[in-house]
Amino acid sequence: MIPKETIQNIIETARVEEVISDFVTLQKRGVNYVARCPFHDEKTPSFVVSPSKGIYKCFGCGKAGNAVNFVMEHEHFSYPEALKYLARKYNIEVQEEEQTPEQTEEENKREILYNIHDFASAYFVDQLFNSQEGKSIALPYFKERDFDTKTIQDFHLGYAPQKRDTFYQYALAHGYKKEYLIESGLVIEKNNSFFDRFAGRVLFPIHSLSGRVIGFGGRIMGNDKKTAKYLNSPETLIYHKSKVLYGMYFAKNEIIKQDRCYLVEGYTDVISLHQTGIKNVVASSGTSLTEGQIRLIQRYTKNITILYDGDPAGIKASFRGIDMILSQGMNVRILLFPEGEDPDSFARSHRSSETLEFLQNNTEDFIQFKTRVLLEESQKDPIKKAALVKDIVQSIAMIPDPVIREVYTKECSVMLEMSEAVLVRELNNILRNKFRKKHQQISYSLPVEEEKAEPQNIVSNLLDREAQERDILRLLFSYPDHELEFEDENTGDKRTSKTITVPLQEFILSNLWKYSITFENPEYQKILEMLLASYEKGEKIDPQYYINLPDEKINSIIINLILNKYEISSNWKELGNIIVIREEDNLKKAAEQAILALGEKIIKKEIEEKKQALKEANEEEVEPLLKDLMESEKKWRFMCQKLGRILSP
Ligand code: ATP
Ligand code: MN
Repeated sequence: MIPKETIQNIIETARVEEVISDFVTLQKRGVNYVARCPFHDEKTPSFVVSPSKGIYKCFGCGKAGNAVNFVMEHEHFSYPEALKYLARKYNIEVQEEEQTPEQTEEENKREILYNIHDFASAYFVDQLFNSQEGKSIALPYFKERDFDTKTIQDFHLGYAPQKRDTFYQYALAHGYKKEYLIESGLVIEKNNSFFDRFAGRVLFPIHSLSGRVIGFGGRIMGNDKKTAKYLNSPETLIYHKSKVLYGMYFAKNEIIKQDRCYLVEGYTDVISLHQTGIKNVVASSGTSLTEGQIRLIQRYTKNITILYDGDPAGIKASFRGIDMILSQGMNVRILLFPEGEDPDSFARSHRSSETLEFLQNNTEDFIQFKTRVLLEESQKDPIKKAALVKDIVQSIAMIPDPVIREVYTKECSVMLEMSEAVLVRELNNILRNKFRKKHQQISYSLPVEEEKAEPQNIVSNLLDREAQERDILRLLFSYPDHELEFEDENTGDKRTSKTITVPLQEFILSNLWKYSITFENPEYQKILEMLLASYEKGEKIDPQYYINLPDEKINSIIINLILNKYEISSNWKELGNIIVIREEDNLKKAAEQAILALGEKIIKKEIEEKKQALKEANEEEVEPLLKDLMESEKKWRFMCQKLGRILSP
């Protein structure tokens, strides 16, 4: 844990332009810098760095953030890793915070488990190459699988002797405690006797991202049907299966370089492909990908190709899992091996160049693949075909990017020989349902494809408050130091009236407070609550504080609020004698209008709801409801008046 003050110090010291210029060539442009965006391919620079605001934003791809976000994004660092990187750059000493005794104990235990695995791995490697058993049966087994010596060494493959407690005794003799050996999963206790989990197996060590051994997979030699072919380490403090992919340590650099990750079933596939020169490959170890594993891949690339052996039942079973990969915004391709072949066997029976060529030329986009597979199956059966359309559209609906969804909708309409409109309607139904279910989470970006003249949409547009909420936040963060002038109402008399000044922030927040206005967008509401808490304490709102909160979503919202395109692209002062009215010259009006615009939406919604209730009301309810409705209308007029009568009736 890095202490809060150190984090603050790092953030305050790091100059965004200095940090970024270590990776990107920046050109001065007015008060800002511009560059070609490092996060997407572009010919003309749309990547802007603002030293005064401490932030960057790309107007091409939308990536935005502060110095910390930049190194996270560019170097694929975690938050603490990024902070430590910046601390090193600026010679800031990072003294990690004191831990609680429980934390220390867990940390120590973890360290012990790492040590046991290091120790065990070295032992198993030694057994493979130097023991009689290893030399006479295990090494020949690997050779028979066509693993060459370099490969065996690179992957630290090993061998656990057959006698059932050799490793246990050896580890005890080297001072490792029984309880930790059991906790590591390498030793199993049964009726007070102790066994090696992997006795008699060849071993595939599983590495963490930084290359430490955190577990093992063990295979029997030969094909004895009575024993499980593969055994794996159990979950431990250092081995969380759902977050680990076999081979990632060896693959990550190549994944970045190729901007693609191949996903295979297991250890032998990864190793054989590596040996043949294809190194951007990882394995899920037999199960379908978890969200954590997808996020792991996403740190390095958005492009994933899944390699399948040609078993049709297995393929169909995997479709659902792939939908989840799509929903994480990954581009998924599929590669089908010929019947009876898997990546391991294919790589062994073909030359490197042939395997590489096969991988390059035979992949198919997942949605197309799925459409084709299901289409072949349904043949001309119309009922089956209807089900298949729903199924395909369901997959398309998982894709977060509307542009990509549209491309697929077009493509599938051709493949399915169906009008695009039918698919779009089906797609919108699914999206709308999803939207309703997840309303809380995504209400600020309704991802429904454009569709005209649907009464439902018109109502929801009328009532959607996101733009107004955003505008209020934008003013709060864009003009943190501005003050508004008001005439002191108390004196009444024009001649003696004085003007009083109120900070813009206070004016807006006090009004939101007074009318108990809340935001519907949960992220905006979260920000508003923080703002109101500061306001209550009499603190000024410092945009930098919010930009630097360890919450990327909030950082990016605020940055997008305060960096708008026209502010950066043109300098109004340079327009000579053309008079341009700038927002900041009439902030009072802007603030009043922003609050009113939101108030209008809120009260409109109230009025809408009350009218609806009126329609459904029975006789004795009508009068109170009418009164209620009039209250709402009165509230509206009152608000207008109080806010400065800018909307005359
Ligand atoms: P064979 O020599 O019979 O082909 P194999 O060792 O190549 O055996 P397969 O049955 O072909 O194994 O399985 C392919 C991949 O799936 C292997 O690389 C293996 O790592 C992985 N695998 C199979 N079963 C398991 C399991 N129970 N746990 C983890 N991985 C497994
Ligand atoms: Mn196999």
